[in-house]
Amino acid sequence: MQEKIKDNLIKINNKISKAKSGNNSSKEVLLIAVSKKKSIEHINAAFNEGIRNFGENYAQELEDKFLRFENYDITWHFIGPIQSNKIKLITKCSSWVHGLYREKVILKLNEECKKINKTMNGLIQINVSQEISKNGCSPDEMFKVAEIFEKCTNVKLKGIMALPKLSSDLQESKKVMQGVYELSQILQSKYPTAKEISLGTTADFDLAIESGSTMIRIGESIFGIRK
Ligand SMILES: *Cc1c(COP(=O)(O)O)cnc(C)c1O
Repeated sequence: MQEKIKDNLIKINNKISKAKSGNNSSKEVLLIAVSKKKSIEHINAAFNEGIRNFGENYAQELEDKFLRFENYDITWHFIGPIQSNKIKLITKCSSWVHGLYREKVILKLNEECKKINKTMNGLIQINVSQEISKNGCSPDEMFKVAEIFEKCTNVKLKGIMALPKLSSDLQESKKVMQGVYELSQILQSKYPTAKEISLGTTADFDLAIESGSTMIRIGESIFGIRK
């Protein structure tokens, strides 16, 4: 498993370098290894290859892994849909939450953070392929959501996240990703520190980087197919 994951990471890093040279930007791109449904051994192998950022979708699974790796230098990203009754767990175990857009969730996250004296990094999830997914706010609502963060002492607005519908049409995908980049520029005009763009998975991370993504979330091409 170690060798396989090592090989996969070499391939991904090559693809990242190539995509970075294609977007004529010197911005760093953070690789988040999405370990949902994958074992402790998988995480350990990726950690041994230098990965320090991991993404999880399910709060209970996140907690199990968080506790197992408590003494490791790992930054956990919660990237899944957020249920209110799981916010306390998510607060304890992660330092980035990617899928924020509901007021109730953002405010509750802030309250939970205050209780344990923790600061959390948050991204606004924007639904850029509206017919397909119900998660995320519409582009029009981005500033309304951003204003909610102004009331939060312990949740910092760091940028936006999107999970565009996969398309076999390359030009269409590029257009959608360019749209995400433009939304980020608009957000940064009012919130200069909200500069992260969490965009790109196994299927499209090279395109995402060319479009200015700063955080890519990759699962299957690191760890293999999920069952
Ligand atoms: C599962 C998941 C990923 C990773 O997808 P892969 O196709 O395995 O790279 C990225 N982002 C989100 C939000 C996910 O749920």
